[in-house]
Amino acid sequence: MATPAPYHFSRRIRATPRSFIREILKVTEKPDIISFAGGLPSPAFLDAGGVALATGEVLRKEGRSALQYSTTEGCLPLRRWIADRYARRYSLEVSPEEILITNGSQQTLDLVGRIFLNEGDPVGIEAPGYLGAIQAFSQSMPRFCPVSLEPDGPDTAALARVVREDRPVFFYCIPNSQNPSGITYSPGRRKEVVGLLSGEETLVVEDDAYGEIRFDGKALRPLKCDLPDRTVLCGTFSKIVAPGLRLGWMCAPKEIIEMAITAKQASDLHTSIFSQLVLARYLEEQDIDAHIREINRAYAARCTLMVSLMEELFPREVTFTRPAGGMFVWLTLPPGVSSMELWRRALEEKVAILPGTPFYTDGNGDRGVRLNFSNADPETIRTGITRLAGVLEKYLRDIA
Ligand code: PMP
Repeated sequence: MATPAPYHFSRRIRATPRSFIREILKVTEKPDIISFAGGLPSPAFLDAGGVALATGEVLRKEGRSALQYSTTEGCLPLRRWIADRYARRYSLEVSPEEILITNGSQQTLDLVGRIFLNEGDPVGIEAPGYLGAIQAFSQSMPRFCPVSLEPDGPDTAALARVVREDRPVFFYCIPNSQNPSGITYSPGRRKEVVGLLSGEETLVVEDDAYGEIRFDGKALRPLKCDLPDRTVLCGTFSKIVAPGLRLGWMCAPKEIIEMAITAKQASDLHTSIFSQLVLARYLEEQDIDAHIREINRAYAARCTLMVSLMEELFPREVTFTRPAGGMFVWLTLPPGVSSMELWRRALEEKVAILPGTPFYTDGNGDRGVRLNFSNADPETIRTGITRLAGVLEKYLRDIA
């Protein structure tokens, strides 16, 4: 029998890494495994009742237009809501024309890559960096220029060098409760980053997925406030309402939005108008600020519990971040300890963690581990961290 002809996939898709998280989640979905590997919001805050109410009203009041094709820009009331919130929270004045509704902020990242990057173009990115962004930008086959993160933000000397020598098209960053590290840029680092990039051709792609998930409830102004014409700000409803709605946005100067609209038309014409109308109605009816306060109270308690158990039980050589928001803690393992090996050992004890390597674009990161605290209840956190402490202790003994 003749051998079938091979499939010739494009170079760009072959250059794109498969999401390691999705691969890991397949293993960790088993009910007897305690998983700190994923990045899911707590199901307790997915308001099915409120969404059901809004859905019924949309269908009754908007009728068939809720089920028709719609504009690429997205539903105006929703874009107005986003613009008003920026004005109220941060005194950031943008018009609805500077906002494009997307299928989650993941699509914003995909659009950013497609409108700005040619093959081989330099891109500045935090190390460790958000896996989904690495994946989205990889499709354009860029040259990543990593800038390592320190406890209060990026290594600004390294960023200055990258900007001067590599001249990246943009610097992709998550100044608030970064994924995966949990780090928040300090006011000083923010000022330095703004200073370094003002007057430069390098744009800022600022991912503010966790801007509302701040345990002290205080709003931290986006870098965009200081670099309005040079920043593409990415936002999402996934962490404050529900990821299943797949609703996020791009906030950028109009010229950039216009290009993104063209790119979005080519991929999906527009984001589901039905989802958008339901969310717009939901936001009108519900007290979203009270909802966000509740999320923050619960995540703060989970984070504090996880960190204090690690302080109490983990070997002293293991260090970790102390997040002030978001959903993740980042561990740094001592020299000679591999996160991949720790992942295997932890899984034997039915605990799933996320090894650090996929968060780096240069093959580093094997001493990093990401742990999620938003999706596990306090009892699960206690059991899981206690087990992980045992695994770490044994691993350190084995290699001593
Ligand atoms: N950016 C960051 C930093 C994230 O953590 C996530 C979700 N893991 C996203 C973007 C994408 O989220 P969504 O597409 O649901 O808005």
